[in-house]
Amino acid sequence: MLVKGSEEQKRTYLPNMVAGSWTGTMNLTEPHCGTDLGLLKTRAEPQANGSYRITGTKIFISSGEHDLAENIIHLVLAKIAGAPDNVKGISLFIVPKFMVNEDGSVGTRNSLSCGSIEHKMGIHGNSTCVMNYDGATGYLVGEPEKGLAAMFIMMNAARLGVGLQGLAQGEVAYQNAVSYAKDRRQGRALKPELRDPDAPADTLFVHPDVRRMLLEAKAFNEAARALVLWGSLQVDLSRKAETEEERQQAEDIIGLLTPVIKGYLTDKGFEAAVNAQQVYGGHGYVREWGMEQFVRDARIAQIYEGTNGVQAMDLVGRKLAQNGGRAVRTFFEVVARDIADARAAGDPAGVAAPLERALGDLQAATMWLAQHGMADPNNAGAGAYAYMELMGVVALGWMWLKMAGTSSRLLEEAGEDRAFHEAKIATARFYAARELGKTGALRNEVEAGAETVMALPAEAF
Ligand SMILES: Cc1cc2nc3c(=O)[nH]c(=O)nc-3n(C[C@H](O)[C@H](O)[C@H](O)COP(=O)(O)OP(=O)(O)OC[C@H]3O[C@@H](n4cnc5c(N)ncnc54)[C@H](O)[C@@H]3O)c2cc1C
Repeated sequence: MLVKGSEEQKRTYLPNMVAGSWTGTMNLTEPHCGTDLGLLKTRAEPQANGSYRITGTKIFISSGEHDLAENIIHLVLAKIAGAPDNVKGISLFIVPKFMVNEDGSVGTRNSLSCGSIEHKMGIHGNSTCVMNYDGATGYLVGEPEKGLAAMFIMMNAARLGVGLQGLAQGEVAYQNAVSYAKDRRQGRALKPELRDPDAPADTLFVHPDVRRMLLEAKAFNEAARALVLWGSLQVDLSRKAETEEERQQAEDIIGLLTPVIKGYLTDKGFEAAVNAQQVYGGHGYVREWGMEQFVRDARIAQIYEGTNGVQAMDLVGRKLAQNGGRAVRTFFEVVARDIADARAAGDPAGVAAPLERALGDLQAATMWLAQHGMADPNNAGAGAYAYMELMGVVALGWMWLKMAGTSSRLLEEAGEDRAFHEAKIATARFYAARELGKTGALRNEVEAGAETVMALPAEAF
């Protein structure tokens, strides 16, 4: 609304929305279409006064109905009568729950209603609604038939937000698991010298496999947090950097990594929540400790705002090839430069060499896709997911390179922060030793192509 709305729309809706006294929704999904929005059926009929009558059914609308706010401003995708019946015919409309009076106050109810609230696996704090629009009054945002592009302004930001949501679930689950593992006593340390002589059993912390689960979560959480912060910086730079070249570079690189931040961070956030739940054993499965809720809540982030499979396709099918591959070349250059700098500084955490190998796998997989994806688009589709993961492993490894380098520089003068920096370097070592090596397998998966994926006839499943 801020970017595409008219001055009047901004004046009418934004102050209350920013203040939080009105809330908003995004209405894309319909019963027969989620990913493939070209199929959407919601119609918009132009009225003599410049408004539109919106008719159709939307499903899965987050916060579609509630009484937590004085008004709900729905942003609805619909097709104006006569528009092409595909993605090119989609327009964007503001459809308020309550009409807004001339003086800005909330008026009569618009003709839209909540058909039902979904019963779902997690995020029970959010009402996910079927929304029925029965000739509701709506106002066009931006130009007709440019609605999807306008919605994407919000969705690109929302995808970064959902990536952060994945990370946040992983983090809170991890924090709980750490305190549980320090408290719970089961079994004996494998090495006698690590056993607590004053207790009949040791804490979970002595068991390498418990440490593995905690460290996988910790190494992910900290690098993912750095990547999200770095990504937010790129968003700022893409708008405010001094030169056009810097703005362009920031926009390229955050555009490339947005599907990775959304897709990879929500997959790994879920995995971290599952690992943290596992640390609790059976106590993680029962409700009492709250761990099963983190797992249930983390799951949605892999699905909404474009499923992770669709993020992978966006990365491979659109982002890699855009502007002749400019963004991915920039990414390779920036990472390679940081590797060279780390080597020059002695690479104290030992991340540079494994990261260089991982970057090599990513470059090779990119080249393979460029050559074989064109010849057979199923090669791109079959390898997209592994490619997204591969870029995710490299992106987090790059963050560990940066963090370990910074901590090594600050270590000597760290004082009371010394333990913090030592933990950073130790966690970087864990990531370098155990995670970065996975890129070889992911590269193999990409390069295996579509043949075995597509060979089986549908009846054989
Ligand atoms: C709790 C919740 C809240 C939601 N909130 C909102 C909201 O506020 N507003 C809104 O508009 N929507 C919302 N959604 C909808 C959500 O964005 C969609 O469910 C999601 O985009 C997937 O669409 P779909 O469910 O129709 O699945 P489908 O599109 O039918 O996809 C099914 C499967 O096929 C795969 N697939 C589909 N097409 C392709 C393709 N071309 N290539 C490769 N794989 C493909 C998908 O990855 C998926 O695995 C919400 C959903 C839930 C569950």
